[in-house]
Amino acid sequence: MGVYNRAPLEVERGQGVRLWSADGTEYLDCVSGISTNALGHANPKLVAALKAQADKLWHVSNIFKIPGQDALADDLCAKSFADVVFFTNSGTEAVECALKTARKFHVANGQPERIDIYGFDGSFHGRTYGAINAAANPSYTEGFGPKMEGFHQLKWGDHDAIKAAIANPTTAAIIVEPVQGEGGCRAMPEQCLRGLRELCDAHGVLIIFDEVQCGMGRTGKLWAHEWAGMAPDIMAIAKALGGGFPIGACLATAEAAKGMTVGAHGSTFGGNPLAMAVGKAAFDEVSSDAILNNVNEVAGYLKQQLHGLAERFPDVIVEVRGKGLLLGVKLVPNNREFMGWARDEAKLLVAGGGDNLVRVLPPLNITLEEAREAVEKFEKACEFARTKVAG
Ligand SMILES: *Cc1c(COP(=O)(O)O)cnc(C)c1O
Repeated sequence: MGVYNRAPLEVERGQGVRLWSADGTEYLDCVSGISTNALGHANPKLVAALKAQADKLWHVSNIFKIPGQDALADDLCAKSFADVVFFTNSGTEAVECALKTARKFHVANGQPERIDIYGFDGSFHGRTYGAINAAANPSYTEGFGPKMEGFHQLKWGDHDAIKAAIANPTTAAIIVEPVQGEGGCRAMPEQCLRGLRELCDAHGVLIIFDEVQCGMGRTGKLWAHEWAGMAPDIMAIAKALGGGFPIGACLATAEAAKGMTVGAHGSTFGGNPLAMAVGKAAFDEVSSDAILNNVNEVAGYLKQQLHGLAERFPDVIVEVRGKGLLLGVKLVPNNREFMGWARDEAKLLVAGGGDNLVRVLPPLNITLEEAREAVEKFEKACEFARTKVAG
């Protein structure tokens, strides 16, 4: 189906932060499969984990105990607020599980009238029906039938509306990306996240965080919400969880998941042995101090350098924002056009984003030396963009 506006580039091979097209051209990859190849391409530890598991067992179904599931679930729980985990194949499925878990919680509490889910403007939660309704971006919902009942929108900073929504006796949960990815690298202020926690606690409302993009070390802490010193009740993760292998997970406290009893939910492929093997290898790395320290060091450097470019190219760059290695550069020229110039003129791959941004999303193990190269290439793209803007 023609649902993607694809870049005219066919990649054949990758190694670390580099990609090669079929004609042998080398690119520096600051897309990372959209925050997914967190440990670079063809990471030897992940390749070894996948190959070893491929020789043993691919699939058995969740009607049996699956090798590796407990180990990865235990690791995720040990390093998060969560007590239980449901594994999925994608981010949107992790979001679906989170939404269902929240509604079931209130049913288990004897409050089935609590069905309302509040999302925030500018958010992205995936492409299934629950996810598009939770984010309510018209370009993803229009043409797909009636709006689903019980989904509502809030605006950032509209404190009165947020308070009223949470105090409403039919509210089940709010869903938030602590740092928005697709929507434009906007980080919700830490005091707002803490304020949401207080309000939701006072009214028996659950908090769902969508850390599909901002989690797994991307912001320099394992989970983005750790910066605010608070935690959600339920959290969807995916993207970097498998370092490029498809896997997602819905994490929850035992209390929040109390409605998810036998038969309430399921998945054929979710949590399969291949995903568990790669996920475990990826999580061991990404959750290490070495990687998180590297993210903070390189992010500090990149942000400073991009701010420098913004000063030198005010005709090209409007603003630099984001958290950790989830960096957004808001542009004067069209972001899609700029991505093409970066690719063709500087051999640098960057991702698009809402609000006319390009996102700089290198792997979390990118070295300072490679980051320097990325800045040089970004500068080259800005120089080319300047001639286009002027011309
Ligand atoms: C990518 C993304 C999703 C959807 O993940 P898929 O694996 O594409 O289904 C959901 N939420 C956020 C924040 C994302 O960035």
